[in-house]
Amino acid sequence: MDAFSSVLNKIHVPKHFERDNDAMSDLNTLLDNNKAWAAKITQSNPTFFSELSKQQSPDFLWIGCSDSRVAAEQLVGLQPGEIFVHRNIANVVTPTDINCLSVVQFAVEALKVKHIIVCGHYGCGGVKASMESQEHGLIDHWLGHIKAVHQKYEQQISDLEDETQRLNRLCELNVLEQVRNICHTPVVQRAWRNNKELTVHGCIYGLENGILHDLNVPIHQMNQVDDIYQVRENGNPVY
Ligand SMILES: [Zn+2]
Repeated sequence: MDAFSSVLNKIHVPKHFERDNDAMSDLNTLLDNNKAWAAKITQSNPTFFSELSKQQSPDFLWIGCSDSRVAAEQLVGLQPGEIFVHRNIANVVTPTDINCLSVVQFAVEALKVKHIIVCGHYGCGGVKASMESQEHGLIDHWLGHIKAVHQKYEQQISDLEDETQRLNRLCELNVLEQVRNICHTPVVQRAWRNNKELTVHGCIYGLENGILHDLNVPIHQMNQVDDIYQVRENGNPVY
């Protein structure tokens, strides 16, 4: 018994924490998987975890959808410590989301990542829900950000004949808009003003074939940002 287990055994467990055998069985499967995973890595590199526990220095920040089929590290073949990850429904970046913006600030200023990747995916359920008029509850506030993208590109989307094409085009356009939103943040613009190497990319993932596509919209300097969104240190008016 390790030290943590012995401490746990001394804790009085309240009635509402009593074990549900089915739930424990599900969790035990994960715990067993974890032991096997850690053992496999340790076998090939005995100091992997002890070295990694001292620091992380990823080059990439990934902002993706929470969809369980779009697993950031696995689909780009990276190991723990190599990519910093933030995920939410439909990979949205808004100027009022303190969670996402805090991740961006930590990644850029503390970890000094060189790349931010916004990754959407075709067939995104969040994007699809945003195209519907039915009520979904609380999440409709969040989907409103994607509806705004839809409205901005309404003509381009409605010109497509097929419903799946319209959905997938909006998935792509949503990525492009979130790339722009990241580039509007003071954190990213401050990094560029200080000549830090930082590129924001947009990618989209195909659920049906597992392939990640670069949308080829890299932004790596201030003059690629629309004037009105450029924040200048000493505040000269744009006009
Ligand atoms: Zn999604």
